[in-house]
Amino acid sequence: MNSILISNRGEIASRIIRTCRKMGIRSIAVFSEADRRAPFVREADVAVCIGESDPSASYLNPDKIIAAAKQTGAQAIHPGYGFLSENAAFARRCQEEGIIFIGPHPEAIAAMGSKSRARELMQTQGVPVVPGYQGPDQSEARLIRAANEIGYPVLLKATAGGGGKGMRIVHAEGEMKVAIAAAQRESQRAFGEAELIVEKYIVSGRHIEFQIFGDRRGNVIHLLERECTLQRRYQKVIEESPSPVMDEALRTRMGDAAVRAAQALHYDNAGTVEFIYDQHSGEFYFLEVNTRLQVEHPVTEAILGLDLVQMQIESAQGKPLSLSQEEVRGRGYALECRLYAEDARNDFLPVTGTVQRFSVPEVDGLRVESAVESGTEISVYYDPMIAKLIVWAEDRATAHRKMAYVLRHLACLGTTTNQDFLLSLVEHPAFQRGEYDTHFIDHLDLSVDPREPFYHQAAIAACVHAWHQRQNSRTLLRSLPSGWRNSFYQPQEVQYLMGDTELRVEYRLEGSVFQFQVESVPYQVSLEELQPESLRLEINGLHHRFQLSWVGDQYFVQNESFGNLSLRERSRFPAKVSIESAGTYLAPMPSQVVKVLVKPGQSVQAGDPLLVMSSMKMENTLLAKENGTISDLYATEGSNVPAGFVLLKIHTP
Ligand code: ADP
Ligand code: ADP
Ligand code: MG
Repeated sequence: MNSILISNRGEIASRIIRTCRKMGIRSIAVFSEADRRAPFVREADVAVCIGESDPSASYLNPDKIIAAAKQTGAQAIHPGYGFLSENAAFARRCQEEGIIFIGPHPEAIAAMGSKSRARELMQTQGVPVVPGYQGPDQSEARLIRAANEIGYPVLLKATAGGGGKGMRIVHAEGEMKVAIAAAQRESQRAFGEAELIVEKYIVSGRHIEFQIFGDRRGNVIHLLERECTLQRRYQKVIEESPSPVMDEALRTRMGDAAVRAAQALHYDNAGTVEFIYDQHSGEFYFLEVNTRLQVEHPVTEAILGLDLVQMQIESAQGKPLSLSQEEVRGRGYALECRLYAEDARNDFLPVTGTVQRFSVPEVDGLRVESAVESGTEISVYYDPMIAKLIVWAEDRATAHRKMAYVLRHLACLGTTTNQDFLLSLVEHPAFQRGEYDTHFIDHLDLSVDPREPFYHQAAIAACVHAWHQRQNSRTLLRSLPSGWRNSFYQPQEVQYLMGDTELRVEYRLEGSVFQFQVESVPYQVSLEELQPESLRLEINGLHHRFQLSWVGDQYFVQNESFGNLSLRERSRFPAKVSIESAGTYLAPMPSQVVKVLVKPGQSVQAGDPLLVMSSMKMENTLLAKENGTISDLYATEGSNVPAGFVLLKIHTP
């Protein structure tokens, strides 16, 4: 094999290209219009534009990908994860076209593509599955009867599901009908079919998965576990290995079950068997097999010193596995944090924007898998994952310390990210003790911002930076300091908003020292060093380095004491408050209106669902914030709306 086309994008495309280069294999990238300037396009040896930004016109379009493979003479296709990676028809199509599909054989993909077929197969192999129901009778009555038999809470899942879509927890029979309809609708939209399974909901569960690997000669092994319990929206945020709850006996039992699952499928490439581990009973149950490389595969690579992409390529070439089960010995500890463009304080909604500045500190044992560089735009078309940070160390505590350091020094500025949220997770005492379950994130109190003690520092940094910008842009009177007034000692005033917190900042320059008052707290500040996007300040005798970027009047500031913070200069944004007046509902980001649940004139109560919106692969239901009647309705089903679009208005009596 001497050339591989990567039918994917972002960090995983870059990751695969790197291994291709290492192995002396020519790499071919395909990209959509939105990704024209993305790093992975440049990193590949050859790159082909395959169409419009919408995934269905490019990364999800088999015809275009096969055509690109033919055009460039690719011998194999690596699908990465997501997109066509678990599409059995695509894997078959590759075979028919004489192109090697780097992944398991299509029958294994097909068998695991349905959660109900997967459950059936595992049951016949003696792999424990979650008590539940799967079957052809999908009537509401049958599903409700199943749930009643299993006992609440139950989890409804889309049979074709993935990425946490189409799942609903149901706590009582009375909620079943609404939940069934919602799960079916979400499934139909995302996967083109509505079949559901019902599972007992494991209340204090931990997601523990095993990496499996097979070759084309019938050998199958597992490559230890990864714990991926820290999730929001059923999607992983932090992964680690070894799992804090694992002992050798449990590892052997779960590893054996994973290998049995793989053997049942005649598995012949990389895959992952996911389990839910019940902390109350100590039992574990099969969830699903992901028949592809996993987002969090670097965690396994870090503790085993393996290159899983290389192993995938070798397996696809027909080479035997290079190690036996006995040779699989983990060393040290690794964890991965997924950096997402999303707002942890706004229900983890994804955000778009431009990463103006991206820089990572140099720390021993750190590996960064990134989709971005300074200047990369995060578009509405794809997943909001920006980068993965993976840290390896001899032991868990050291790795956590290093990860916290990385998260404090990382600059990913210009848009909202979950960087500070990740930091608060990594530094959380319960997480550090290994005591957590899949609800850990749901129960965190995000109303207290641990960065609050550093708001003043960030405001000072933004203020000095802005002052310097003005100073630079003045063409006249350069010898006079900016902000110079006839009454020289008259302080200047700026107001900043940090989230909802207002900060009044006054300052004046005396010689080379700024005398600051932030909310009446005095600070003596001098500018020690200034670069286009960073500065070093002495604040009350201590030197601090800040990295900075700004968009309009919004500043993004990084410093090791708080990680990252963003603030807005208030005075120039008087309009914002009035737009967001009560009763007006705006699209928080570019979205599609999936369903309109209300009619003009209808009366609604606070908490009632109004609209179902979808963006960046996620569906959200917009809820009424007040009681009243729908006075205006501008949202129409199926339409695409820009951020800030007025969707509807509620008139309150
Ligand atoms: P895993 O199970 O591998 O940990 P998740 O289930 O959390 O991963 O998320 C994997 C899904 O996320 C994929 O199925 C894909 O749809 C989506 N995804 C995440 N990042 C990307 C990306 N950069 N490109 C394409 N799809 C992505
Ligand atoms: P997906 O295909 O979306 O990844 P999974 O079946 O893997 O769907 O479930 C996603 C997540 O939902 C799991 O990682 C776990 O946190 C949670 N989950 C799934 N099934 C159960 C269950 N029966 N009880 C409790 N939590 C579950
Ligand atoms: Mg899963």
